[in-house]
Amino acid sequence: MCGIVGYIGEKSAKDILIDGLRRLEYRGYDSAGIIVLDDKPNLVKTEGKVDTLDEKIKDISMPGNIGIAHTRWATHGMPTDENAHPHFDCNKKIFIVHNGIIENYKHLKESLIKNGHIFSSETDTEVLAHLIEENYEGNLESAVENALSKVIGTYGIAAISADEPDKIVAAKFGSPLIIGLGDNESIIASDASAILRHTKQVVYPEEGEIVVVQKDGFITKGEISPKDRIAILEWELEQAEKSGFPHFMLKEIFEGPKVIKDSIRGRLIVDEGISKLGGLEDVADELSRIERLIIVGCGTAYYAGLVGEYLLEEYGGIPTEVEYASEFRYRKPLLDKETTALIAISQSGETADTLSAVKEVKMKGVLTLGIVNVVGSTIARETDAGVYNHAGPEIGVASTKALVSQLAILSLITLMFGRQRELSLVMGQRIAKEIYELPAKIEEILSQNDKIKEIAEKYKDYKDFLYLGRKYNYPIALEGALKLKEISYIHAEGYPAGEMKHGPIALIDENFPTFGICLKDSVYDKVYSNLCEIKARCGKIIVVASEGDSEIKNIADDVIYIPKTLEMLSPILTVVPLQLFAYHIAVMLGRNVDKPRNLAKSVTVE
Ligand code: GLU
Repeated sequence: MCGIVGYIGEKSAKDILIDGLRRLEYRGYDSAGIIVLDDKPNLVKTEGKVDTLDEKIKDISMPGNIGIAHTRWATHGMPTDENAHPHFDCNKKIFIVHNGIIENYKHLKESLIKNGHIFSSETDTEVLAHLIEENYEGNLESAVENALSKVIGTYGIAAISADEPDKIVAAKFGSPLIIGLGDNESIIASDASAILRHTKQVVYPEEGEIVVVQKDGFITKGEISPKDRIAILEWELEQAEKSGFPHFMLKEIFEGPKVIKDSIRGRLIVDEGISKLGGLEDVADELSRIERLIIVGCGTAYYAGLVGEYLLEEYGGIPTEVEYASEFRYRKPLLDKETTALIAISQSGETADTLSAVKEVKMKGVLTLGIVNVVGSTIARETDAGVYNHAGPEIGVASTKALVSQLAILSLITLMFGRQRELSLVMGQRIAKEIYELPAKIEEILSQNDKIKEIAEKYKDYKDFLYLGRKYNYPIALEGALKLKEISYIHAEGYPAGEMKHGPIALIDENFPTFGICLKDSVYDKVYSNLCEIKARCGKIIVVASEGDSEIKNIADDVIYIPKTLEMLSPILTVVPLQLFAYHIAVMLGRNVDKPRNLAKSVTVE
């Protein structure tokens, strides 16, 4: 999920690798490391910043011309010096940096330990180093190929061996990796920004392909530097950092399908209709006694919690309440510590109010769980157990992909509770299957980006908006309004559609448009009627509707159709067009979309 750089050539690898790591810093990371091969391997790793790494290596002579380096965004194991990459084999001869997740690492680790391998970190990555060692017979690429054939998961890797200092072996599957070909030098990186300074000639490895990178080119599938594989990087540095997208926010909205895949990877067993959440295994006994859940969060995470309440009560079979963390911590909740658990949702894992709520109930002996994106963050450490989002670093201040992953994880937690309680095998299977289909459905929505942009153009000059939804999509109406205010500074209110007639309807006229979520689900007729009430007052209406619903055109001025899914999972789809709509309006109004005024990414004050 984070940064890889590799260098082989005639210059000092150390300088180029450190410079490359600095160019990847914008992505966010928690630790860094470097290995340069000379007559001996020089390996230095550290928790913290590239500056800290630079400080640690500045007095070490590393004249070598081949090396690999990494900025880590921890997924397995805390951000510590030991867990930082590169990882190595028992003989400290093979070194590897890795982005992604090795799903079956536990099983592989057990059998490697049985074979006598000694591990020195808690990461999933380290199994790769030992697997390569296990398969090494004097040829690194064959060993890497054999090792990767045993792996389930995602990877972008660069590996080197002290016995073959003339090559870096690179491969990718589900994680980005680019090879830059310079003048008697080659640079590998997880993103173009670390390559641009050196060369514009690049090769994009295919999924699962093993590439041998040398200073004078590359070998793939037995062929030496096939010319037709070489592409020219057209991007400037700033574009490269955002993978060609104009803003991080748009890039992160477009990461939605991958985010779902990463959040559910290895955690869903469709045939059995169950989810397996490793992070909750230690508290399985306590969880089986739980009769009441309290979810706390702030902002977008709170809205994720609201969807969670609907999910957990309807399908998880467990009474659930959701509260703003900032309110919860100051009142006197009545909690039975034997039967209550608290779920804290926080992208950064540092949200001050959410953290205080966790501490407050912990003191009372209540079981605390976290849904957190940043591994090793304070909330992750303070809670008794939890599930990591695996959404990768989120850089845009307004949360988008983190919410998508929070909703996916709440669906998994629902499946877990549900199947232990009332949820039937058949329904469990249906839900699990449908969760698997969500990434493709999000792709379909993203393909309508241009259309959503056109709609945004029509509405960009309005000063007020109302967002309406019911049941599962009521929290998404709140989120749509929040997103619009956060980044465009337009006034927007989110309401449960049924509440509209109890007040907000007074605001409606031709200058106060409404954004409705009106899917063909259990509340379709109700939301439809609410939208008719708006129409009757000359209010303009934009609707997110189910594909095939032509009736909605009778009342809507503009319609965005989305694919059908289970009602309970629909928020994961409906939120995407709302994010895109807010994004385009904000861009058209010239706002600083990635860093909206007055907001911070991680709210560490109360
Ligand atoms: N899963 C690996 C780890 O936790 C790689 C993380 C990354 O992509 O930075 O160390």
